[in-house]
Amino acid sequence: MAQVNQAPDSKAPAAGAAIAADGLVFAYGERRALDGVSFAIQKGEKHGFLGPNGSGKSTLFKLLSTLVPLQQGRVTMLGLDLAREAAAIRRKLGVVFQSPAVDKKLTVRENLHYGGLLLGLGGASLRARCDEMLAAANLGDRAADLVGELSGGLRRRVEIAKCLLGQPELVLLDEASTGLDPAARRDLWTVLKAIPGLTVVFTTHLMDEAAEADRLTLLDQGKVVAAGAPAALMREVGGQVLDLEATDAAALANELQRELGVTARVLDGALRLDGERVHELVPAIVQRFGARVLRLSLAHPSLQDVFLLRTGKRFVVTEPDPAPKKGRRRKS
Ligand code: ADP
Ligand code: MG
Repeated sequence: MAQVNQAPDSKAPAAGAAIAADGLVFAYGERRALDGVSFAIQKGEKHGFLGPNGSGKSTLFKLLSTLVPLQQGRVTMLGLDLAREAAAIRRKLGVVFQSPAVDKKLTVRENLHYGGLLLGLGGASLRARCDEMLAAANLGDRAADLVGELSGGLRRRVEIAKCLLGQPELVLLDEASTGLDPAARRDLWTVLKAIPGLTVVFTTHLMDEAAEADRLTLLDQGKVVAAGAPAALMREVGGQVLDLEATDAAALANELQRELGVTARVLDGALRLDGERVHELVPAIVQRFGARVLRLSLAHPSLQDVFLLRTGKRFVVTEPDPAPKKGRRRKS
């Protein structure tokens, strides 16, 4: 329904582009998980893909991390063509999957060490690189701990440290902060943002994490529904958002239209008004309809409102993955 707000540069790969994707389609059998997705990500950018479950984030992540072949469309990554130069791209990537990929029976340092051996590192340079990454991820005093005994947040930091060992130019993270509390999530971002010039592409279904991005692409049902800096996207919604709960929402919407000339949308039985001057309506609404209003709230637009404006749907947040197993003693 809504028009797509594509970044103007999405068709032409700019010189500073880390990734330029054009017209990506990926189908599992008949089902299109990605349906004509285009975007451009600049070097050094922290770029988030935000969307509800099933919107195609993990499929896009698998394509970019070269795990599944390109079916349709074109992708240039770090100056290389994804269809023809996947192996060369892989050497420049660091990848953190949605499911943990560290060995719980090994210590933190052993996990990094073996990760480094797989990358072809070794000897003194590998030891030095491990020390460097342990320090960067603030894990220096945990090096000898078994990963299985660490909290979810620390374990994620081990994965980040491991993915940075090979000095990637581009890091891809799929729902990397799922299951982490807000403090652990902030720690993870502190580590990533401290690495100069690193391009980070991440997927999330969490609005507050999405706000960490320099730029965002909002996905719904395999399509781009909005793109831009979080603040710019929210400005686009308008000045403020007025939510009204009333005993008879649909009838009230009609009366608001008739008496005040304003259009309210009915969403899940409540009314929503947005726009630059929506706050000016509050006195008139309270005066005329106050007795029927159960709740009235005025707020700045959120990314949730951007999604709503673009898709006409609320963003239903559910956990994509089971929470870490319970009943195990965890240190933090
Ligand atoms: P997200 O990560 O945003 O939740 P996914 O990329 O995992 O989205 O899924 C996008 C769509 O593709 C969903 O409809 C999902 O059911 C479908 N899908 C994902 N993986 C597979 C698969 N291996 N086989 C068939 N369908 C899949
Ligand atoms: Mg996913």
